[in-house]
Amino acid sequence: MLASRGLLIIQDLLYYLPFRYEDRSNTKELRALVPGEKATVLARIEQASLSNFQRRSLGFFDATLSDGTGTLLARWFNGKHLVDWLIPGTRLALFGKIEYDRRRLAMVMVQPEFEIMQDDDEEEQLHTGRVVPVYEAVGKISTRVFRQLLHRVVEQVDLLDDALPEDIRRRLALPGLASALRTVHSPQAGDDIRLLNEFRSPAQFRLIFDEFFWLECGLALKRTKARKADGIPFELSERVREQIKRMLPFKPTSAQKRVIQQIADDMKQPHPMNRLLQGDVGSGKTIVAAQAAIIAIENGYQVAVLAPTEILAAQHHVYFRSLMENLGYTVILLTGSSTAREKLQLKKLMAAGYAQVVVGTHALLQQDVDFHKLGLAIVDEQHRFGVLQRLTLFEKGAPAGRPPKLSRDREGAAVFNGADAVRAKPDVLVMTATPIPRTLALTIYGDLDVSTIDELPPGRQPIKTKHVNETAIEKVWTFLAMQIAKGRQAYVVYPVIEESETNAMKAAEQMYDHLTHEVFPKLSIGLLHGKLPAEEKEAAMRRFQRGEINILVSTTVIEVGVDVPNATVMIIEQAERFGLAQIHQLRGRVGRGSHQSYCILVTRKMNDIARERIRTLVASNDGFHIAEMDMRLRGPGEFFGTRQSGVPGLRIANIFRDGDILELARSEAQALIAAPPEHADLHGVVRYIQEHWQRQYGFVEIG
Ligand code: ADP
Ligand code: MG
Repeated sequence: MLASRGLLIIQDLLYYLPFRYEDRSNTKELRALVPGEKATVLARIEQASLSNFQRRSLGFFDATLSDGTGTLLARWFNGKHLVDWLIPGTRLALFGKIEYDRRRLAMVMVQPEFEIMQDDDEEEQLHTGRVVPVYEAVGKISTRVFRQLLHRVVEQVDLLDDALPEDIRRRLALPGLASALRTVHSPQAGDDIRLLNEFRSPAQFRLIFDEFFWLECGLALKRTKARKADGIPFELSERVREQIKRMLPFKPTSAQKRVIQQIADDMKQPHPMNRLLQGDVGSGKTIVAAQAAIIAIENGYQVAVLAPTEILAAQHHVYFRSLMENLGYTVILLTGSSTAREKLQLKKLMAAGYAQVVVGTHALLQQDVDFHKLGLAIVDEQHRFGVLQRLTLFEKGAPAGRPPKLSRDREGAAVFNGADAVRAKPDVLVMTATPIPRTLALTIYGDLDVSTIDELPPGRQPIKTKHVNETAIEKVWTFLAMQIAKGRQAYVVYPVIEESETNAMKAAEQMYDHLTHEVFPKLSIGLLHGKLPAEEKEAAMRRFQRGEINILVSTTVIEVGVDVPNATVMIIEQAERFGLAQIHQLRGRVGRGSHQSYCILVTRKMNDIARERIRTLVASNDGFHIAEMDMRLRGPGEFFGTRQSGVPGLRIANIFRDGDILELARSEAQALIAAPPEHADLHGVVRYIQEHWQRQYGFVEIG
């Protein structure tokens, strides 16, 4: 059971921290209870009963408790499972809010947390009479069992190495590691329980700091290493400027200008660029990336453009071609679905340096692809891959090319093949459309420099977002017909939850049939989902782009990047089932031209959180606000799980709650790596970081 939670060794257990503390050093006598307060009491069950257990209700479980000084009623909803546990005679510790029930003339606790106490248990002192830690149960392993386990295990805490450099620890007045762990697992009488419950005690601060510190040290090391590597010092000649001017179809916004300046300055450096280009959907990142591409190309280098999906790759291909072909550059597309012959042909073009821009999915990196002279890799929408994949991706260094082939000349001396055999690392520009709160950015993208486009192109009208119940769908179709009569186009989207692309596909197919045959028999409707062959996907997309399709019914394969300015209506079906960020991305597919655009969220039954999400979307178009709300509504657990968000598995630290500690840890980590003090055992630190990263994130390769 412990293993199922990743608790494999003693150290894991030591870092399995209580989520709450309860002050049982002064539990209240029942007669002293006051309505409205939260209290912990110890009492014995006198009577217990399950009532109202019928077809639809899971029943109430009521218990009458007494401690010799008074009585208390406790009630749990859906309490059937308690019947076998809470039998008369059982002693309980209860924690909850006290209310006074006027009808029954008694003090009650509704839905209290409780723990069964054992009589005459020697270890009972562990669970009462002091501030006790409360652990989240794992399967049948209750908080009580954890308390016992940790009570024993914490004895061994002195065996742990405290790797945090001593001078940092002293300067910040942090407790030692052993003492911090001892405190969190068995707080003493003097410890401030309020601070503990807010995760702000010195001990918790130290542990949270540690976690961020080692993460940021690893990122800083990566960053320093990358900074020191040989890169390409691109030149910004007059010709580069002219080509950029020739390419630009419009005047860049001042945000775009500022950002391209940052990128150009970075590209001039003799070290590789590792930069994140952040901006809300539709803020115009691609054209900025295209300008960076021109800098590389005019210096005689090739550019790779990597997209997360084939559709997006195809779209970038079209866009880059339209921008670049009349400058005399060749742009090719290489995806997993190209045929073997095509691939061979394309690879030859690339290897010989005939193609200046190569667009592809990330598979481009895995395939045996050789660039003649790769100078810049543009990676789009990287956030979908998560930090670990991104780090491995860069670590593999595929864009840097494989090591030069070594051969021997006649005298037997080593020669490298190719004129620039020892290749410099290319510059890397990562584009993301998910505006993420700063603290999260520091963690996911802690090894990158960040440029932000915080302004939309001029003439955009804010998208109007409306919420409609499924029962009123006819009105939506009427509205849609009007927009199409004006010459506009629309998307109808079925978002995909996790791995259920198939369901979304079925829903999309049904809707496609319904719209084609019943609602809009005279219009041209297209269908797009992930299971279609690549050519069909591309064809549908291209027809939509050319305006030959009025309504495109789709799954979330269109979530990122697709750019059709004439599309003004985004209808999202089953909107209650999907995350804020996802819907915001989808909504970003409209509002890209000068026409007023609309996003219509169609829902069925909703719970409170879904209702709150829909409310947020209707009220705000601001990606940053939406990202914050997303974190808040989903809660740290889900938002920060490695799987969903790509944030490294943080066990104690919570990016949302602990932003200030993160900033502190980050600056300490950067200072340490930038200028290690003479006496610091840097090798020891690096070794620790490597072990820590290996354990925590599953791979090393950082220093
Ligand atoms: P992002 O990738 O950031 O979501 P895009 O680069 O796809 O945004 O740009 C969105 C749309 O805005 C595109 O149609 C693009 O041509 C247009 N656009 C970008 N920058 C400008 C600008 N400065 N002025 C006018 N239109 C712009
Ligand atoms: Mg884009």
